[in-house]
Amino acid sequence: QEFRQLSHAVNGMLDRLAHSFDLQRQFAGNAAHELRTPLALMQTKLELFCEEHADADAETMQMAAFQMEQLDRLSALVRTLLSMSNLQSVSRTDEIPLAPLAEEILTDLAPFAQEKQVTLRQNCEEVSMVGSDALIYRLLFNLIENAIKYNKPGGTVFVSVKQADENVILEVAATGSGIPEDCMEHIFEPFFRVDKSRSRQMGGVGLGLALVHEIAVLHGGSVRAEPGNKVGTVFIVTLPAEDDHC
Ligand code: ADP
Repeated sequence: QEFRQLSHAVNGMLDRLAHSFDLQRQFAGNAAHELRTPLALMQTKLELFCEEHADADAETMQMAAFQMEQLDRLSALVRTLLSMSNLQSVSRTDEIPLAPLAEEILTDLAPFAQEKQVTLRQNCEEVSMVGSDALIYRLLFNLIENAIKYNKPGGTVFVSVKQADENVILEVAATGSGIPEDCMEHIFEPFFRVDKSRSRQMGGVGLGLALVHEIAVLHGGSVRAEPGNKVGTVFIVTLPAEDDHC
């Protein structure tokens, strides 16, 4: 009898927690949705202004360029918030060969790596999983982009994909300053950044890893970060090869 009461209380608490997470998600989604139109209007007006006043003085053009840059950033933030609030509705039935996916992302990010003087290396087995192709692309893209972004000139990023029993394991290891131990448990929280000024300078708002975490959990998997072998950080994603959560 006592056990039943206890389990009833715990279930009630879990339901309330899930409901409050849903409300939070809904709020973020609604706010992002409302922000999207005025932002797009401001961007269009500003672009038109620049086109029509190509001969404006340098100070005006500088100000317009600054506004454009900040609007681009806000739009990217709104897009991420929107996709985070809509994740549940994305279908997860694609057969995803992971080695070609990793290859595609490494090719997409090669110019960025070159600019940052970071070498990209990989060792990807021919494994596949079932899930959302677009979301798994985003998960791996965010991890590799961060690994380049928070690296140092002359550094390396190493990407590996392998199968372990029923799971696939994606690892992204990077040289670089690494993440302080007391920050490790927070890095997957929305808007958390280790070095706020450095991260902002690089255009980051602290949502990249939160999205990685959401996508991993949505596919019935998990993600964790560990200190690298000698330096840097390694991100390890474990995902079921077959998604039972569809
Ligand atoms: P941001 O948009 O700021 O990059 P993320 O959620 O992607 O946000 O990452 C959160 C923070 O974790 C970053 O601000 C950065 O300080 C740290 N971080 C993420 N990936 C790495 C990495 N590979 N090496 C070192 N620090 C990292």
